[in-house]
Parts: sequence; C-alpha cells; structure tokens
Amino acid sequence: MFILCRAKVMAVKTADVLLVGGGVMSTTLGMMLKQLDPSLKIVMVERLDHVAHESTDGWNNAGTGHAGYCELNYTPQNADGSVEIDRALSINAAFESSLQLWSYLVKNDALPAPTNFINPVPHLSFVWGEDDVKFLRERYKKLSAHHLFDAMEYSEDPAVLADWMPLVMAERDASQPVAATRVKHGSDVDFGSLTRNMVEDLQKSENFELMLNNSVTKIKQQEDGRWSVRVKEKHTKIVKTIDAGFVFLGAGGGALPLLQKSGIPERKGYGGFPVSGQWLVCKNPEIVKKHGSKVYGKAAIGAPPMSVPHLDTRIINGEPALLFGPFAGFTTKFLKKGSKLDLFGSVKGNNLKPMMSVGANNMDLTKYLIGEVFQSQKERVEALRNFHPQAKDENWTLAKAGQRVQIIKKDESGKGKLEFGTELVASADGSLAALLGASPGASTAVQAMVDVIERCFKDKIAQPEWQAKMQEMIPAYGKSLIEDGELLKTVRKETLGTLGLG
Ligand SMILES: Cc1cc2nc3c(=O)[nH]c(=O)nc-3n(C[C@H](O)[C@H](O)[C@H](O)COP(=O)(O)OP(=O)(O)OC[C@H]3O[C@@H](n4cnc5c(N)ncnc54)[C@H](O)[C@@H]3O)c2cc1C
Repeated sequence: MFILCRAKVMAVKTADVLLVGGGVMSTTLGMMLKQLDPSLKIVMVERLDHVAHESTDGWNNAGTGHAGYCELNYTPQNADGSVEIDRALSINAAFESSLQLWSYLVKNDALPAPTNFINPVPHLSFVWGEDDVKFLRERYKKLSAHHLFDAMEYSEDPAVLADWMPLVMAERDASQPVAATRVKHGSDVDFGSLTRNMVEDLQKSENFELMLNNSVTKIKQQEDGRWSVRVKEKHTKIVKTIDAGFVFLGAGGGALPLLQKSGIPERKGYGGFPVSGQWLVCKNPEIVKKHGSKVYGKAAIGAPPMSVPHLDTRIINGEPALLFGPFAGFTTKFLKKGSKLDLFGSVKGNNLKPMMSVGANNMDLTKYLIGEVFQSQKERVEALRNFHPQAKDENWTLAKAGQRVQIIKKDESGKGKLEFGTELVASADGSLAALLGASPGASTAVQAMVDVIERCFKDKIAQPEWQAKMQEMIPAYGKSLIEDGELLKTVRKETLGTLGLG
C-alpha cells in the first residue's frame, strides 16, 4: 500500500516482529523466533550499510566468551577476604545457553564450521603481589569446588605460569609473588562473523526482510496495541511506516533514545553514560605466535569493571592478532557512528535527577576517565608491560573499540545509580522490549533473548510446540546448570565437541 505524503513516498508494510538494529542481540532473537515459528514475518531495520558494524563487530569488542573463568570483577571480594561467586556462576550458566544454541545451529547447517566464529583460547586470570595472590587463591578454592568450574587449574609456580603464558612471564621480576588460574576450554568469539552468518541464514527465509541504511526515527503505539514505526532511508530520504505487532529495540547504544521515544511508562528514570574504548593491537606474527590465551588482570582502583586490563589472543575474520586494553575514553556519542548530541538528547525531565546525581557521586570514575583520555602512547605501552614486560612501542598500534552506554537507573531515593550490566526493559503488554547496557554483553545474548521470549511471547512459550523447540535448541532450557552437575556434564560434552572447544 502506498500513501502520498508531501514530497516523500510513504510505504506501509506490516510485520509480526520488527527487530531494530542488526547486531548480535536482534539477530539472535530473529534466529530463535524463526526456529520457533517459521511463519512469523520478521523485518530487521539497520541504519548502517552492513549488519554487525557497531559493538558486535570483531574489532569493536574483546571477543571473550564471558563465562566467569577469567574476569575477576565477576567475583568481588568482601571486607573479610571472602569471595562472592554467585555472579560468576550465573554468567557461566548463561554462556552455556549460547554454546548450546550455536551448537544446534551448526548441526542444522544454519551456521558454518565453528572456526568461522569461535575458537578455543584458554582463559587465565593473572595477579601479582601478596594481597592479590591471596585473593586469587581464595577465588580458585571457591570456584573450583563448583561443577561449573571444576576444570579450573591454579598455580603460583613461575615455571608452570611460564608454560601457560610465555610472553607474560618472560623477563618478569623473579622476586614478585605471582599466581594464575587457567581454564583450557575458554573461547575467543568473533561476534561479527557469528552475526553476519546468522543474518545470512535468516535471509534464506521468505518471511525475513533486511532493510539496510534505514534508521528508525519515530515509534508510536496505536490504539489496537500494534506499533507504528517510522523508518527513513539514508540515501533516498524515503520514509516508510512499519506496522508491527512486536518491536525489539536491539539498537545497542541507540536503544535508550528509541525507548524514550516509545513513550512506554517503563522507560522513566533510565539514562545512559557513554564510555568509549581503545585497544593496543599487535599483528607481528613473531609475537602473536608466542601468546595463545586470554589473560585478565585486576582493574585499577576507581576503574569501571569493564576496564579490567587483559592481553588476548584474537582470531578475527580468520586472522590471529594480539589485543591489549581496553583503555577507556569519553565521548558524548551513544554509537561509534553516532552523533555528538546523543548524550544531551537523552536528558529528559524523568531522568535529569538520576543523571545529575550519578555525575556528582562518581568522582573515582570521573578521575579515572580523565586519566585515561589524556594517556600517551608511551603510558599505554607501559601499562601493557605489566602483562608483557618485553613489549616494544613499534609493535603495537592504537585502534578504536566500540561504544558502551552504561545504564543510569533511578534508585529508591529517586537519585541515580550507574549500572555495569545489561537490562531488559519491556512494556507491560509485552509488545515492546529494549535491551540496555553492554556487559557481559554478546556472550549472554542467548539468555537475554530467552528472557525477551518469556516476557513478550508468554502465551506462545506456554505451548508444548514452543517448549519442545526451545529444548531442542537449548537442551538445558528450563533447568538449572548451576544446580544440576550431571546435566552440565552431558550438555558441555556435546557443545565443546560440536564447537571444537574441547
Ligand atoms: C570495548 C568493548 C569490549 C567488549 N567486549 C566484550 C567481550 O569480550 N565479550 C562480550 O560478550 N561482549 C563484549 N562487549 C559487549 C558487546 O560488544 C555488546 O554487548 C554487543 O555487541 C551488543 O550487541 P547489540 O546487538 O545490542 O548492539 P550493536 O552491535 O551495537 O548493534 C546495534 C545496531 O543497531 C543499529 N541502530 C542503532 N540505532 C538504530 C536506529 N535508530 N535505527 C536502526 N538501526 C539502529 C546500530 O547501527 C547497530 O548496528 C564489548 C563491548 C565493547 C564496547
């Protein structure tokens, strides 16, 4: 149907499901819904000329299959020295859901050979100094006692550590107390490649349409509960309206402004704080071949949790490289290819107070960001030398990572708190959902999208056909891998085998 509207042609199309954004989140949801009900008409709208070119792109994130194996920020230490492991357990179980779905898709030829998007890279945590060694010992004791982490190894012996990570141990001060843990079946994930391959598969369905170079500009709920979504094409400026039954705002940093435009009451009180990132990258094959793991350290005091420094083996588009970082930066853009006005445009009457109070109450973070922004290349390489004492300036170049928008949320007192996780915000009628935040991010995309399906497709997921399909895609669906050690054994044997991580 075409309606003439001033100078522009407005075409109205209908969709059962509208996915806003072509990153790993929307694409994962699209893949799962296509399996659950192939008759659903799904439209994906992406403002860029490619899918997976924002945070999901291989070079824009660290590609760590976040499973809580190496990330010390998922196991905080209490004042009495004890270590909390609940968050690591839930992130590990969530990552297992991703591994299950990817295995299912590989076995059903919906994804290519796993080496195209996931590769085995051991996950290590590395610390130095008495206090941190004590912390790591305690962390290991607690984690390795749980079946999810029983493959974890621990050592304080420099000779063992030199075998695990030669580049990190070479020319290190021998008097320094050191310790590390290792999980051999850790992974490096090229989320860009994963997503592009999933979109390729979606495009084989006649019920799927991809609209590139199209930005969602307006979104309004109609009286019948459906959504009228305005989309503008970048080159022709043609505006179309999509009439959708369900809308998922998987727009990464762009999700918050769209959530605000939707007008749903649940949007109130949310704000965003953008943190950009940079990496030091090394492609010198002589150095690259000396390091074969992801080595995570401890974050500096005041640093946000996602700024934990790490030295990583990466395999992006089949090419191995080393990456060190991230170094934080500040910009007012919500997307790498966004506008400098993004942050200011997101300030509304309902989030002004939380945003102001976060600004005033996070001096540690502010100081940390200022320090990072003004860091020189020499200082960055100096930080790298904590992990690679022999590092030379000329082998490392600076590259821009993706953009994260941390969630600012109104707390009980009406003030704001800064959150470092991801959060699903859905309308009460389940017709719209938005994913905010960025960590642990892409690794837990499957669990996040299971949550979307359970909250927004309540009637359908209650039906036996959807239940059966969910269990086919994610064999542990509806059960707890944290509680059930036997189930974990079966599931992990299958996924590590299928994905070549064993
Ligand atoms: C520095 C850094 C390191 C990270 N490291 C890891 C890691 O090691 N492991 C991990 O699991 N995760 C990591 N993450 C997080 C991970 O990258 C993100 O959680 C994930 O990629 C988010 O996917 P997404 O689909 O929500 O967003 P994106 O990939 O950003 O996709 C959103 C898409 O929406 C489009 N869009 C935006 N607005 C509109 C609009 N109005 N209309 C149409 N399209 C729109 C954008 O162009 C974009 O393509 C990291 C992130 C960063 C920045």
